[in-house]
Amino acid sequence: MYYFDPHIHMVSRTTDDYETLAKMGCVGMSEPAFWAGFDRGSVESFRDYFRQLTDFEMKRAAQYGIQHYTWLCINAKEAENVELSREIIAMIPEFLDLPNVLGIGEIGLNKNTRNESVIFLEHMELAITHQQQILIHTPHLEDKYQGTRMILDMLRGDARLDRSRVLVDHVEEHTVRHVLDAGFWAGMTLYPVSKCTPARAADMVEMYGPDRLLVNSAGDWGPSKPTAVPDFVLEMRRRGHAESLIRKIVYENPLTFFRQSQNFQFTPPDVLAESPVEG
Ligand SMILES: [Zn+2]
Repeated sequence: MYYFDPHIHMVSRTTDDYETLAKMGCVGMSEPAFWAGFDRGSVESFRDYFRQLTDFEMKRAAQYGIQHYTWLCINAKEAENVELSREIIAMIPEFLDLPNVLGIGEIGLNKNTRNESVIFLEHMELAITHQQQILIHTPHLEDKYQGTRMILDMLRGDARLDRSRVLVDHVEEHTVRHVLDAGFWAGMTLYPVSKCTPARAADMVEMYGPDRLLVNSAGDWGPSKPTAVPDFVLEMRRRGHAESLIRKIVYENPLTFFRQSQNFQFTPPDVLAESPVEG
């Protein structure tokens, strides 16, 4: 089955991983900007990182027939440096017209601090004034519920925001309904050390239905599994779910969401041209 991984950090993965993903049916992916494992010191450091995301990774993916897209921001972990964050937000528009840029992300909260909220709101303003989609990181473990509530309050507080163009990621059982009920898209992250397993993701699909739900691996430089989306496909098959339902979640839903970005020009693999998948 063809699939799309809507949240994966390929800068921290090898070219062998691209090959493996392609063999497993991955035809497209989107890579939000994130933390490098250390706090970067200058706006130039981010400019170079954005060049990597908008140029080099796209070419590396294309060698394996994978279409690579990206999102730009400064991560919440680095938002405590408000001055640097503002310099980066001011620089991001240089990149917004490049062909693989889908929007602003992954913005969000980490420890739910005041500075993180300030920078979250300034990213939101950037997205709204440039008609960009938004991809949101919700905090881990014990900070998740409170952080998700704070994020939803900030999003709901701005009437200009089109909620169907916002993806709230890393949802779990105690947050997914709040996100979907408010009209946003929700991403379930399959991650070995925290977040969600394929079985828990399948449970959530069974509880809430497939609409506005996405599944991703968030594969990065930590303990993570870039092939986690195929694990979810297998779990859904084990439970006897229809191929059409599985394909909706791992292929059609990402396309429907991403097609709202002006830069998204995805070409389905040739074989699909004969029996086009409805978006
Ligand atoms: Zn991420």
